[in-house]
Amino acid sequence: MTIGNQFFDMTMRSVLAGRPLAGEALERFTLAVAQASGPALDELLAAARSMRVERLGREVSLCAIVNAKSGRCSENCAFCAQSAHFETDAPVHPFMEPAEVARAARAMRDMGARRFGIVTSGLTPSGEDFRRLVESVRAVAALGMEADASCGVLGRAQFEELKAAGLKAYHHNLETARSFFPQICTTHDYEEDVQAVRDAVAAGLYVCSGGIFGLGESWNQRAELAVTLRELGVPSVPVNFLSPIPGTPMGSRTPMAPEEALRIVALVRFILPNAHIRICGGRQTVFGQQRGLEPLEAGASGLMIGDYLTTGGLDAAADRQGILDAGWEIEDAHDD
Ligand code: SF4
Repeated sequence: MTIGNQFFDMTMRSVLAGRPLAGEALERFTLAVAQASGPALDELLAAARSMRVERLGREVSLCAIVNAKSGRCSENCAFCAQSAHFETDAPVHPFMEPAEVARAARAMRDMGARRFGIVTSGLTPSGEDFRRLVESVRAVAALGMEADASCGVLGRAQFEELKAAGLKAYHHNLETARSFFPQICTTHDYEEDVQAVRDAVAAGLYVCSGGIFGLGESWNQRAELAVTLRELGVPSVPVNFLSPIPGTPMGSRTPMAPEEALRIVALVRFILPNAHIRICGGRQTVFGQQRGLEPLEAGASGLMIGDYLTTGGLDAAADRQGILDAGWEIEDAHDD
């Protein structure tokens, strides 16, 4: 396909004027993104960056997580180190003491993280696990941070109790496009994840929902996921890139090239011009420390700092300094 000069720039203007990418225009755009290289790639990234600055300013939102309960998950997501279906070296431990969660949160607050997510493996926490979750949320909120949780599928009553304890945001990824999901997970239905996101939105929480890229999905499926997230109205979209984990069905895949990852960030930005796009797991695998902030030049507006669930992250202090050196601002932990 040949695209004319300024194609990305003109598309940016059209999106900013209120014409969301859809139908044939989206297909044409997605193909152009998939093929962008050289000057066309530069134009794409510059347009995505301008769009982000226009809609979200120059602030970078930093968040961090703790793997509060790890391993032995009943689900079989093909990329995941924590699934009980695969033999991996991922840590296995029960729900941490809330004081331990608070210690981890305080350390990341000191590195500039505004949001702190309590993440547990498994579909739904209950009994003692749910009690610890509520106490952990209370402890993180008491530190002046936004307490987030990512704990599978919760019901309305659980959301209400967590909100009363100070929960501000709920995170639940859709992982990938509906049309690709059956190749990634067969132990639950895509619609359960979509419903979990709808329930969190209905509970009045700030909802983070995104996916993981590099699983073998097509470019059209990447766009499909972003459109689903747009339809759900989520304000925050975590973008993860596969870190191939030995022992999982994805263990022998090659990590994505940085340029491909940047094109994905730009694609998501064009489809979701108003959302916070946060680069999370896999940033270290794809970009390394030296290029780790490049997604900010492709339309991303947030980064997860510190370690990820089962893989080490980049140096949080170096990330923070690099953000400031590049002329971005770090979102204040206390303004809302
Ligand atoms: S991604 Fe979540 S639901 Fe899927 S196996 Fe991993 S912990 Fe379980």
